[in-house]
Formats: sequence, structure tokens, C-alpha cells
Amino acid sequence: MESDSCSNYHECPIVKAYEQGKIDSEWINMYCHDRWKDCERFQLEDLSDSSYEFVLPDGSVEERLRR
Ligand code: SF4
Repeated sequence: MESDSCSNYHECPIVKAYEQGKIDSEWINMYCHDRWKDCERFQLEDLSDSSYEFVLPDGSVEERLRR
């Protein structure tokens, strides 16, 4: 499973938000372990830019993560 996951998996704020129960596991199952090449975050050049911190894999912004 690990080798089929996104290379950003261990650093990604979205995964951390999932582990904290802030977002649905569907995101992780659908993208991080499967279609990570389709993830909008994965395609961003600078993942460390804090303005991208709340961007979900489909490119939408999850305002609840700001809390
Ligand atoms: S949210 Fe996107 S960038 Fe982050 S681990 Fe999942 S697939 Fe990779």
C-alpha cells in the first residue's frame, strides 16, 4: 500500500487533517492511495506555500481547516 501512495503523504497537511478527524477519509482513499496524480495539491509546485494549506485534492478549499 505504501509504495502506491502519494510521495507527499507523510508531509501533506491534508493527511494530517484527516488523522485529526477534520476531513473525511474518502479524500485519502480516493486520492492519496489511488489517484494522487489527479490531486490538485500534488500538481502544485510549491506545497510549502501556506496559501495552499487548505486546498483539498479536487482543488476546493476547506474553510473548516482554518480552525
Ligand atoms: S492530498 Fe494530494 S498531495 Fe496530499 S498526500 Fe494526498 S494525494 Fe498527495
